Amino acid sequence: MSICRLSVVPRIGKPNVAICFLMLLLALTPAAVAVKTTYYDSPRLPTALVPFHYELHLLTRLENTHPIPFSFEGAVNISFFVHKSTDVVVLHANEFSIKLAKTQLQEWYTLQRLAILEFNFNRKLDYLIMKADSYLKQGKYYSLTIEFGRPMSENKRGGYFLAHSTDSLSHQKSWYSLTHFEPQSMRYTMPCFDEPALKATFNVTLGHHKRFQSFSNMKVTAVLAHKALKDYVWSVHETTPLMPNYLLAFSINNLTCTFSQTGGPSPVLFRTCAKSSDLRLTTFAAQMAPVFLEYFEELLQMELPLSKIDQLAVENYPTDAMENWGLVVYSSDLILQTDEPGGPEPSRPRLQALQVICHEMAHMWFGNLISVAWWSDFWLKEGLTGYFEVLGIEHLYPRLGRRILAKYRVMSLMHETESGGIVISSMDIQSNASKTYVYQKATSVLHMAEGMVGHTTFHNAIHRYLYQYAFASSTTNQFLSSIQEGCDRANSLPEFADIKTIMDTWILQSGYPVLNVRRNASLVLTQNHFSFNESRRERWWIPLTYTTQSEQNFSDTRPKAFFPANSLMFNLNVFVPENDWIIFNVQAMGYYRVNYDERNWDLIAEALSRDHQSIHVLNRAQIVGDALFLWNTKRISWSTALNVLKYLVDEDEFEPLMALVVGVTNGFWGVSPESSMNIAKWLSNAGKWYAEFINYTFDQLVFVENNVESAPSEED
Ligand SMILES: [Zn+2]
Repeated sequence: MSICRLSVVPRIGKPNVAICFLMLLLALTPAAVAVKTTYYDSPRLPTALVPFHYELHLLTRLENTHPIPFSFEGAVNISFFVHKSTDVVVLHANEFSIKLAKTQLQEWYTLQRLAILEFNFNRKLDYLIMKADSYLKQGKYYSLTIEFGRPMSENKRGGYFLAHSTDSLSHQKSWYSLTHFEPQSMRYTMPCFDEPALKATFNVTLGHHKRFQSFSNMKVTAVLAHKALKDYVWSVHETTPLMPNYLLAFSINNLTCTFSQTGGPSPVLFRTCAKSSDLRLTTFAAQMAPVFLEYFEELLQMELPLSKIDQLAVENYPTDAMENWGLVVYSSDLILQTDEPGGPEPSRPRLQALQVICHEMAHMWFGNLISVAWWSDFWLKEGLTGYFEVLGIEHLYPRLGRRILAKYRVMSLMHETESGGIVISSMDIQSNASKTYVYQKATSVLHMAEGMVGHTTFHNAIHRYLYQYAFASSTTNQFLSSIQEGCDRANSLPEFADIKTIMDTWILQSGYPVLNVRRNASLVLTQNHFSFNESRRERWWIPLTYTTQSEQNFSDTRPKAFFPANSLMFNLNVFVPENDWIIFNVQAMGYYRVNYDERNWDLIAEALSRDHQSIHVLNRAQIVGDALFLWNTKRISWSTALNVLKYLVDEDEFEPLMALVVGVTNGFWGVSPESSMNIAKWLSNAGKWYAEFINYTFDQLVFVENNVESAPSEED
C-alpha cells in the first residue's frame, strides 16, 4: 500500500483531504462518496475515548543510504476505553505518513473489526478524524492500530529527530536519534491522544542497526534479531508506569556511559552518557544525580516506580533539559563538567549544572508522578519543581539555595517591570521566550505560600498531595485544596482567609503590588499596581509580615494580617514607638515591594548606617531593590533613596549587593534582566572590585541626579 504523506499539503484552517486520502477512501468503502464528511474542530479532544496503553514498534534507520535514507517507520496499537458511545475516533497526527488501508479498529476482547468509512484531517489542530461503520459502545474497550513513518531530519519540531556529534579526537561524525515531545510534539512522530491528562502505559520496542543501542524510559529486557533486515535488531523495553504521553522518550545512539546508583535496598541505577570523547566529563552529573534523587526520596517519603534513570548529554538540544521519566536529556554544555578542586562553594558552571540536575530529579515527582491536568497548570509543576530545586541546593550548600531564591525573585520582578506583568497561569506553552520568568515567578509565589501557612503545614500538605494524586494529574485548584486541608488541620490561617482566594490573586493576575505604609496613630496601608498605570485595577491579598526596631524578629514569616484584595485601604492597629522603624515583608518572602513614609525611611537608613546587620540580609536586599525601584518610578525622592543606599559601602553579603547591581543596571541603565544578573554574579566573584563598582555606581547616581530637573518629593 502506498503511503500518503500528510505534510505535503500546506496547513490550512479548514477541512482538507489529501488526494491520496480520497483514493484510499474510495478503494476501502465503495459507499464512501455518499458519506457526509466528518469534521472536528474543537481545540481539545472529545472526552468520549480514554486511552490507557500504547504498544509501539518503531524501526529507525540512521544511514544516509539509497533508497531509504534517515527515516523511521512503525506501528502503534492504542488501547482505549469508551466513556461515551461514539462512531468517531479523533486523535492527534500530523507531519508523517499513514498507511490508511492498514489501519485497524477492533473491539478489545472479541477482536471484532469495525470498518473505517472515512478518514479526515484537521490540519490546523493536528487531528486525524475517523468515522467507523458502527458505534464504539460505552463501557467497552477497543484498540486502534496505525502504521506510520517519515524521513528524519535535524528539525527538532518533529518530536523525533536526527542529531549528530563530532568526536573531538577523531573528528568523526556520528548520527543518532532522539525525542523531545513536551509539550505537544508527539503528534508529529506518531498518532496519539496528545493531552497531558490522558495518561497511559507504554510498551516500546525499537528496531535499529545492531551497532547502536536503544534507550527509552525503561530498561531493555530483550534484544531480538530482525527477521527481514540483516544486522538489525529489536530492543524490547519494559512497560512504563502510567504517565502523560509527552514524557515518552527514546533514542538510538552510540553514546558511552558512566555508571552510578543510589544507595539503599532498592537502588536506582544511573547511566550518564555522552559522545565517547566527553565520557570523562560525565562523572560530575553521574555522581550528583543520585545524591539529589536520594535526598528527595527521603524528604518526600515516596519511592519512584523506576529502577533506572539514564541521563543523556547531547549537543544542540532544543532546551536546557527535559525530565522524561527514566530518560532525562540535558544540553551537554550545561552538565558536562571538567574536574576542579573542591572548594566551599561550587564554581558558576558547576552550580548551574547542579541546579539543572536537581531540577530534573525533582520533576520525577512533580510533573512525572503527579502531572498537570492541562497546560494552564504548567506553572504548578515548574513552581513546585523550582521550590524543591532550591531545597536540594540548600541541602548541599547552605545559603546557596537562599541565594538562588533571591535571584529568582529579583529576576521575575525585573521582567514584570519590562513586560508589564506575568500571568503564571496563562503562559504560552509553545514559546520559550517567557518560560524562565514563569518558572521564577511560580517558585517565588510558592515560597510566599510556604511563608503564609508555615513550613511544616506546607510540607505536610505536599505529602498528602503526592499520595492523593500520584499516577494521576492535578489541577491548580486541587493543589490549593490540599494546602487548604493542611491549613484546616493545623489551624494555620485565620478563618476568613482561604488559600484559593488569596493565591488566585497571585496566580491569575499579572504583576505585583507596591504596599504603601504610612504611620499615623495606626498604620495606614494602601496598595497599587507596580506599574503606576491608572488603568490597572488589579489588587492582591497581601500577607502582612512585619517587625519593629524593638522586636527585631526576622524569623517569624507567618502573616500577622492580610490586606484584603477588595479594599483600597487597610488600617493596622499596631503601636510603633515614635523612634522605631517598622519593616514589612519579613525575609522578603512576599512577592511585593514596600514603600514607607519619609520618617520611616529615615529610621531605616539610620539603622542601616549604624549597624546594617541588625536588619536581616534578605530584608536589606529588599530595601535596596525597592529604594532603587521606587526612586526610578518617582515614588520616593532622590535624597531618600540615597540616604538608604549609602550604607552599601559597608555591605558584604551577596543578596543586597545583587539587588544594587540589578537595580542600577536594569532599572537605570536599561540592561536586560539576564545581563544585569550576570553582572551581579560576576561582581560577586570579583572581591574588591565590588567596592570600586559601588563607588562608580554612586558617581553614576549622582550624575543622573544632577541631570534630573526636579527631584520628586515624597508626595509626588
Ligand atoms: Zn522544569
